[in-house]
Amino acid sequence: MFLKRIELQGFKSFADKTVIQFDQDITGIVGPNGCGKSNVNDAIRWVLGEQSVKSLRSGTNMSDIIFSGSEYRKPVNMARVTLVFDNSTRVFDSDFDEIEITRQILRANNEASYFINKTPCRLKDINDLVMDTGLGKDSLSIITQGNISSFADAKPEDRRSLFEEAAGVAKYKKRKKVSLSK
Ligand code: ATP
Ligand code: MG
Repeated sequence: MFLKRIELQGFKSFADKTVIQFDQDITGIVGPNGCGKSNVNDAIRWVLGEQSVKSLRSGTNMSDIIFSGSEYRKPVNMARVTLVFDNSTRVFDSDFDEIEITRQILRANNEASYFINKTPCRLKDINDLVMDTGLGKDSLSIITQGNISSFADAKPEDRRSLFEEAAGVAKYKKRKKVSLSK
């Protein structure tokens, strides 16, 4: 499983539809300061369910992530981002070779909608789809600079929990906790 493509439209600095194609060997996104590198990372986390506007480095409402205009361009009314994952190895619990996950938001009502392979769904369906893949928004698939220093400074027990997450043990512990509390 790998991320094949990101399509962004109206998300932060990406006013026009922008398609970024990856292959399995992608190693980095480079460019001058302010060109939108971190915005691509924000877009990925947004689609994977990030609900904290602060962590997306935006204003106060989720609709603040919509392109707000520039010297030459008017603001737009909608942001939409699609992640296309290769699923030929069936890491997602789905028979499709490609999984497309889309999130969009309208400025008019600050409301988000979600789609899996173009079919409307709930955020919960996306969370469920990615849960056992290591892709969840709190998983280790995205490691920030801050994560690295806190990992280095962490107490041994906290560091152990990161290894448990990476090894796929954490989800069983979470499930055990849920079933014992019922
Ligand atoms: P650096 O190398 O400094 O980390 P970067 O490439 O990571 O830079 P980003 O933080 O991704 O840059 O992009 C910052 C740019 O995105 C700024 O120019 C900012 O004005 C623009 N931007 C962020 N949100 C919006 C928005 N809602 N509408 C329009 N532009 C936006
Ligand atoms: Mg940056």
